[in-house]
Amino acid sequence: MINFDFDGIFRRFPTLRAGVFGRSVMGRPLRFFSFGAGPRAAVFTAAHHANEWITAPALINCAGALAAGYAAGDPDSERIFRKTRLYFIPLVNPDGAALVTGRLASGRFHDSAKSIAAAYPELPFPSGWKANIRGVDLNLQYPAGWDEAKRIKYSQGWTRPAPRDYVGRAPLCASESRALYTFTRRVRPACVLALHTQGEVIYWQYKGSAPPGARALAERLAAASGYALDTVPDESSNAGYRDWAIEALGIPAFTVECGLGENPLPLSQLDGISAAAAGICRELAEYCAGG
Ligand SMILES: [Zn+2]
Repeated sequence: MINFDFDGIFRRFPTLRAGVFGRSVMGRPLRFFSFGAGPRAAVFTAAHHANEWITAPALINCAGALAAGYAAGDPDSERIFRKTRLYFIPLVNPDGAALVTGRLASGRFHDSAKSIAAAYPELPFPSGWKANIRGVDLNLQYPAGWDEAKRIKYSQGWTRPAPRDYVGRAPLCASESRALYTFTRRVRPACVLALHTQGEVIYWQYKGSAPPGARALAERLAAASGYALDTVPDESSNAGYRDWAIEALGIPAFTVECGLGENPLPLSQLDGISAAAAGICRELAEYCAGG
């Protein structure tokens, strides 16, 4: 059973700071940790989707790589520390991840999720679960084309709480997405990242456009990770965290689909995903630091 070891990394790297920016539906803390004491912020997120939880330990490893460089006296890491504040949010959807990994296997919330899933027998339970514990897809919650996302998803039959693809009653009705929205607005990042699985591709546009500099930055991310740049089909390009950050904040924002295979990806892919994600975080940190 996977353990999301937030505390281990603090013991190893006292330079990292920790905090809580909200609570999940079940009351789990929504945790961040940060690296750096500078003026320019970035927000790196993982595991909006429950069965993509492997991105959570991968993002923790990314923070560890930066902190290890700093601890070893690496001048680039020291410069990043001075010029930036990098916020790492490994687990946007802690309740859903607990469901998929078997840590939540009984009780009221488990049983209600199970009865939601029973209407979708073609999706395996719990391994096919992407949503939060109430059956809202947390990456279809942001106020950027939400009405259009609703129209498209409803036309595909996703009209009520479901293991995936239900947009919710309103934008930001899910506490986890709302908390991340508020946190992101508060720290005013220069760029944001959302790790998902799978496909080994990087999305960098919203409805075919992107802020100045985003394309060049996307190419750096591709080179650092070995992943390919891709464009989202119009029908899926709405109401996501990246969509909102590009449209409302006007900043470079990236969705990275890590690894290859069927979700949830096996832990045997963690090292490869961590290496790709660490390269991406490093490039974004350099961008944030002005380099
Ligand atoms: Zn996803």
